[in-house]
Amino acid sequence: MKGRIFRIQRFSIHDGYGIRTTVFLKGCPLHCVWCHNPESQSFEPEVGYKAEKCLSCHKCAEVCDRGAIIPAEIGIEINREMCDGCGKCVEACSGRALEMFGKDVSVEEVIALVERDRVFYENSGGGGDVFRW
Ligand code: SF4
Ligand code: SF4
Repeated sequence: MKGRIFRIQRFSIHDGYGIRTTVFLKGCPLHCVWCHNPESQSFEPEVGYKAEKCLSCHKCAEVCDRGAIIPAEIGIEINREMCDGCGKCVEACSGRALEMFGKDVSVEEVIALVERDRVFYENSGGGGDVFRW
């Protein structure tokens, strides 16, 4: 069985007392106005862009078959209606300005990653939920 996630955050300390590994799922239907992770809302894979990291090399635009990346004098713009989430631009980006949100992973893959921190949870007692913080 596979599910779509956009991030796995190890040593997560902001959602309750203690430590935890947080698996962020893609495709949240709630769309809260105060959402801290808007990249979670769409079920479809999405390219994230951090302008402050962009080198303006425009290699991303060269590899995009769909013409979804528009080079600008400084940085780029992404036409999200043209983008199909193929991820080629992310692979081409040496500045790490682009990130793909949305990856299909198996339960086994997620558990294998979470298990890496088992020793910390066993020694610390792990974390609790935010309602008992
Ligand atoms: S490849 Fe990366 S660093 Fe280069 S223009 Fe595109 S987003 Fe910016
Ligand atoms: S994910 Fe693919 S289609 Fe979308 S902007 Fe990047 S290269 Fe273009």
